[in-house]
Amino acid sequence: MKEMLTWRQVLAQQWYLTKFCFKKAPGVMAFHLFESIKLQVSIFMEFTWTVNYVLTVAEEGGDFKKILWCMGILMAAIAFSTVTFAIYKHYVFPRGKQVLYQALRMEIYEKAKDIDLSCYDDKDFYETFILATEETDRCMDRYLVFEESVIARLVGVLCSVFYCAYINPAALLVLIVILPLELLCVVQENKKTVAARMERVTHEQKREYGNRVFYLSDYAGELRLYPQMKDKCRTDYANANNQIESVNKKYGKQLFAYGLFHDVLLSRVVKEGAVWTVLLYQMLVLGVVSGAQLITSRNCVLRISANVKIIVGGLRSMAENAAYVYRIREFLQMESTIVSNRNDVVPEGSGSLSVEHVDFGYLADKQVLKDVTLTVEPGQKIALVGYNGSGKTTLVKLLLRLYDPLSGRICYHGKDIRDYQVMDYRRSIGSVFQDFKIYAATLKENVLMDVEAGSRDENYEVEKALYDAHFTLEDNRLSYQVETPLTTEFEKDGVNLSGGEAQKVAIARTLYRKQDMIIMDEPSSALDPLAEYRLNQELNEIARDKTVIFISHRLSTVRDADCIYMMEKGRIVEAGTHDQLLRANGKYAAMWRIQAGLYADTGV
Ligand code: ADP
Repeated sequence: MKEMLTWRQVLAQQWYLTKFCFKKAPGVMAFHLFESIKLQVSIFMEFTWTVNYVLTVAEEGGDFKKILWCMGILMAAIAFSTVTFAIYKHYVFPRGKQVLYQALRMEIYEKAKDIDLSCYDDKDFYETFILATEETDRCMDRYLVFEESVIARLVGVLCSVFYCAYINPAALLVLIVILPLELLCVVQENKKTVAARMERVTHEQKREYGNRVFYLSDYAGELRLYPQMKDKCRTDYANANNQIESVNKKYGKQLFAYGLFHDVLLSRVVKEGAVWTVLLYQMLVLGVVSGAQLITSRNCVLRISANVKIIVGGLRSMAENAAYVYRIREFLQMESTIVSNRNDVVPEGSGSLSVEHVDFGYLADKQVLKDVTLTVEPGQKIALVGYNGSGKTTLVKLLLRLYDPLSGRICYHGKDIRDYQVMDYRRSIGSVFQDFKIYAATLKENVLMDVEAGSRDENYEVEKALYDAHFTLEDNRLSYQVETPLTTEFEKDGVNLSGGEAQKVAIARTLYRKQDMIIMDEPSSALDPLAEYRLNQELNEIARDKTVIFISHRLSTVRDADCIYMMEKGRIVEAGTHDQLLRANGKYAAMWRIQAGLYADTGV
């Protein structure tokens, strides 16, 4: 984690998680806290209070029946406690943990699904988002351990401190001297462990990358064709492992030295020696403590010291956890900027669309669109052309309100699109992107997307949309027709579509919706030139009465457009019909001449 939080911030994160957990699963949390505290109290009762009571009664030559009663009550309490613990451990806790994991994951998912697309361009956001999704379960685990290791142990410490102060306060003096030294060691050990982890991070990332390269099928084919790259990856992978090994070795020696000093010398020899010396002196020389008090106060002192060390470790991991929780909350608090100004509903029917002096950039210092102005009248067919990176897709994203312009405005039906309800506006425009996705769902669901199932005679209409998009349903692989599952992610008999087939499904989505305006960004780039030509003829026919904006890098498909806009470096540099632009003999004409040569062989 990059940032260090103040203790105030750490406590704020802890408080947030406490409220979250108690709100989502109050019963589980109460049970968890009860069991954690009960465990510490019962350890105290069994090994401190009862030992003192039994030995005192024995020393005073007391009634054996009293001891029997005491042991009987203790056994009954332990038996009862074991039953409730078993219920908690095997039934309540595992389920409760899942409820808490799920609750936090769902909050993150809900946020992620509506967050502005622009957030994904921001590296910091992306890191926060990835971290939020990856760390939710671990954050929850660390929080639940905190309750056991800090709150419950604190109760255990208090029981021992008060009891020891009551029976033999002098025994606590040993702790006052030795405990700070032990804690110093614990803190140093923790620092070394964190330092080792930090040093391993980069190498672990490289090792993780190596794992992906060698296990994912995406890389397998290429690696077999390029042995040098394979060797490089293997060397990097081996180096990463060696680096991790050497970090472990370096810190391993230091941690061993600390362990030897702390666990063996300080805790075993010095602390135990000092405790025994003080207590035996009190008993044998001063005669101020009994045998029972000696044993009991020794137990108290050792338990206090062990628990305090665990609490310090718990507080350290609480601080570490808080840094993750902080990032998760940062993510959850992100506000969408793509919102509606007035919540207006988009009017029915086709309307004109105008882009007025629009400037835009993904990053503050790099403008991608500059003073773009164009108008699309209802029913017109508009083409955006230009070389890669000239800003065509970006303009389309602005038209769909996935981003907002930095200046200028876009109007639909004569009104700024920022006034319309965001989803209503987006739904009013059909779109096919180059990077569309096929989902692990049935073919029908892949066409319907967000259209509610059962709202229309959908099988017939889905089939028609697929047919219009030139998708062949007669294919043998589609055993369940439109109900055939796509992708083999979850279904053994799922079907993986080719790039061209997938693109036709993406087009069918738009045809099914029957919107008045359609935007297509390279809708047929995965098809061969002949199939593309035929599909475009078909699309022209289907979309005869619709407004269509399309991007295509093959100029032969745009020549019938009512107006072609040629873009270069984010600006519209030429506009007109195909013939006008050829006559003007500018950039479009030059591009056309190059492509005419390229596609001459295809007969298109
Ligand atoms: P075209 O569709 O004409 O190929 P794009 O609109 O995709 O062009 O890209 C225009 C410019 O914007 C390019 O320089 C590209 O690198 C940049 N760009 C596109 N998407 C992003 C993004 N998400 N973040 C930052 N820059 C981007």
